[in-house]
Amino acid sequence: MLEVSGLSLHYGQHLALDSVDVRAAPGESVVILGANGAGKSSLLKAIAGLVRPDPGTGIRLDGQSILTLPAHSVVEAGIALVPEGRGIFGDLTVEENLLLGAFARRARDDEAARRDLVYELFPRLAERRRQIASTMSGGEQQMVAIGRALMSNPDCLLLDEPSLGLAPVVVVELFQALEKVHKAGVGLIIVEQNVRISLSIADRGYLMEAGRIVGEGAAGTLIDDPAVQRAFLGMG
Ligand code: ATP
Repeated sequence: MLEVSGLSLHYGQHLALDSVDVRAAPGESVVILGANGAGKSSLLKAIAGLVRPDPGTGIRLDGQSILTLPAHSVVEAGIALVPEGRGIFGDLTVEENLLLGAFARRARDDEAARRDLVYELFPRLAERRRQIASTMSGGEQQMVAIGRALMSNPDCLLLDEPSLGLAPVVVVELFQALEKVHKAGVGLIIVEQNVRISLSIADRGYLMEAGRIVGEGAAGTLIDDPAVQRAFLGMG
């Protein structure tokens, strides 16, 4: 169980996260919905050990604090981030990008098996394993980024707006692949503005506004929440 409690985060004087509580059970798929600037990326970066939250924050994995761990140790603990903008190496091939994701000790022993699993989940990457990543489409590059994160053998994948900048048909394909990742037993925490498709593969969701959690519920009920409809679907 991943438990974030009372997470506050300042950038200088600016309060980006204000006492955020979020939890994800092992293997659960959780979506965090929020508009631009709501603090979604900051939440994922705090979990991944890339920014330091304020004192008083708790971030625990199976009861153990991971709050002060450096980012590579968070990966060893089983949490891998797919950052906004993907962060892949454009000059390297698909396969080279994937292999770079297997640096974690927890992944090194079965690198080839992990790679085969990624190719099974994303057949497009298998077909293009020798293609230079920068020459691939946006959706394919997002698959490389997800595949690379999966190479670290994570229990939980953090995804920062995976649908950003992708054509609707590509978004559908990407979320079908993420559903397969989830069914393979990997927990997902996805931050998104694309409400319908992200809720369609989620077990639960949170609604974030201006650094605070303002709503929470089962994915099936959240889509009917007036606050979600107001904020994202132009209704109410
Ligand atoms: P977006 O979808 O636009 O990335 P977000 O919901 O992910 O939005 P964050 O990127 O977490 O939001 O940003 C939350 C707030 O913190 C915003 O007001 C943003 O301007 C501010 N912020 C983010 N990173 C920094 C930083 N490194 N320095 C100063 N302020 C920052």
